[in-house]
Amino acid sequence: MTIADSDRDGITPNAALWRHKWGFKDTFFKIQPDRSIVMTGDRYPLSGCKLDKLLPHIEESFGIQLDIHRPKLEVTERAIAPPHKNSDFCNELAQLFPCDRYSFDDEERLVHSHGQTTTEEVYKVLYSQIERLVDLVFYCESEGDAQILIALATKHQVCLVPFGGGTSVSAALKLPHSESRTIVAVNMQRMNQIEWIDRENLRACVQAGMTGTQLETKLNAVGFTCGHEPDSMEFSTLGGWISTNASGMKKNRYGNIEQIVENITTISPSGTLEQLQSLARVSIGIQPQHVLFGSEGNLGLITKAVIKIHALPDVKEYYSVVFPDFDRGLQFLKKLAHSGAVPASVRLVDNAQFRFAQALKPQVFGFSAIVDRLSKFYALKIRRFDPLAMVAATIVLEGFAEEVAFQKAAIRKIANCYQGLIAGSKNGQRGYVLTFAIAYIRDFLSTFHIIGETFETTVPWSQVQQVCQAVKTQLDREHKHYNFPGKPYLSYRVTQLYHTSVCIYFTLGIYTNGVVDPDRKIAAIEHVLRQTIIENGGSVSHHHGIGKIRSQFMNETLSPANIELLRQVKQSIDPHNIFGIKNNIFNDQP
Ligand SMILES: Cc1cc2nc3c(=O)[nH]c(=O)nc-3n(C[C@H](O)[C@H](O)[C@H](O)COP(=O)(O)OP(=O)(O)OC[C@H]3O[C@@H](n4cnc5c(N)ncnc54)[C@H](O)[C@@H]3O)c2cc1C
Repeated sequence: MTIADSDRDGITPNAALWRHKWGFKDTFFKIQPDRSIVMTGDRYPLSGCKLDKLLPHIEESFGIQLDIHRPKLEVTERAIAPPHKNSDFCNELAQLFPCDRYSFDDEERLVHSHGQTTTEEVYKVLYSQIERLVDLVFYCESEGDAQILIALATKHQVCLVPFGGGTSVSAALKLPHSESRTIVAVNMQRMNQIEWIDRENLRACVQAGMTGTQLETKLNAVGFTCGHEPDSMEFSTLGGWISTNASGMKKNRYGNIEQIVENITTISPSGTLEQLQSLARVSIGIQPQHVLFGSEGNLGLITKAVIKIHALPDVKEYYSVVFPDFDRGLQFLKKLAHSGAVPASVRLVDNAQFRFAQALKPQVFGFSAIVDRLSKFYALKIRRFDPLAMVAATIVLEGFAEEVAFQKAAIRKIANCYQGLIAGSKNGQRGYVLTFAIAYIRDFLSTFHIIGETFETTVPWSQVQQVCQAVKTQLDREHKHYNFPGKPYLSYRVTQLYHTSVCIYFTLGIYTNGVVDPDRKIAAIEHVLRQTIIENGGSVSHHHGIGKIRSQFMNETLSPANIELLRQVKQSIDPHNIFGIKNNIFNDQP
């Protein structure tokens, strides 16, 4: 066994998740002999910067001293069981498709057998073993491929699992260990084209395997944007977004995925599911395509969708405001949410995350250092903000110049009512840097025995403080109960605003050195925290979906008649359970 990080030098030719970890092969956090940390590569604003405050901050937050010379060793020699091949199926597949359309390669099988859920998937694949692997990977290139494959799977009783970008964080790609049929992962990434753009009506037809970055790059080149920007957009795909009910950070301007998509095409065992026309808004009775939002691989292969597009905004600006505490920040958000001047994105980070973002600041010199010191002096000494209580709202504004100016004026006015201090665009932009760094940091920390996980919920305005406090208290209790060393880390941010509610996004970290079965214990803690959230008025999920890890909460979420309705839908679309990934209410395993 060796440390696999040393293998990561060099750049992968295409934008693929770097095998089992998150991100690009050239990008990772690396510790230097002087205990500073650098992010390698040159893709992100943080890349190449020397971060000398990060390690001390981590040690302080977790109440530990990291031994940087004793990293946790990843498994490099894996015992991979040979594929279970349904020979009739495999023979016919080989007759119908060229050999570049499928693979039995062990590493490919492993990559397609998990998503990015830390404890259930990434931790297992890096440090122990995942139980069940797909038996082969099929690379779908067209709707014709999808139809043939589904017919073949039905004929030979084979299980199909749609695979988009592999970024699921709900264990939606974790395979049911009871599945005895041959399992085929259907990789959709080769279906990555825009089929057409209707410039006049602002629509585009996009293949389901296109990632967010591919989509934006192609649309931007001709003057448009879709505006859907989940933090995973570099790797996650349109089909995955629809299947999980995804939410992008700029939903205030562009909508969540269900507001962006007008028509979905899905190839299912019972035929093609789609509207014959793209419908912006209609009264045609129940719209069958609504069952595809959140279908989590249970019903068929989403092959394309008609989406709304927008002209590129004239102006894009970052902005930020700091508040003395979370309560005042929250009151600002609520007023803003109801103001009619809501910017494309606004996020409120708590004090723990605010300080984490400060620790991620690279060393600055010269004039910037003076400005930094003056701003700090003003906030702490003149305005008397407590560094252990202050929070920040980071903001993205998009639109035409007057629109952005109007929103900024409203933000300033409302912020003023809650003692907000305008902190400018540089700090706003920095807030969003963390967005793209977070999963790389997770993987870096796991090397030093810190397991990190994120989870999210929708909470009515009235319950926000209660939910956050309850999660914190419960986490402290669980941490003691399992006798973990050091202190637990919890931070939260409000990431989405609605008229009645908000989305809260929690980040959890626990130092596990010397603890037996840490991943199992942390998964159990996350489950208890989810229960705590629900008991205090939050929802089971806002955008990560249900998958396997939240399926046990569905009986508290839907009435028995509603669950039966979904079972009947599944029975009608996929009577032989070809799409047997068993997510959400279909999960029958603890
Ligand atoms: C660092 C990080 C940041 C994230 N940020 C966000 C965020 O900001 N917002 C958000 O909503 N989510 C976020 N996620 C979660 C994840 O990216 C989303 O759930 C995303 O929508 C999954 O898309 P995917 O293409 O990777 O799907 P996959 O992970 O490959 O699959 C997810 C599910 O969808 C099914 N599926 C995938 N493609 C198809 C298809 N073509 N047809 C039928 N079923 C399909 C799969 O079978 C599986 O059940 C984040 C995850 C990570 C790791």
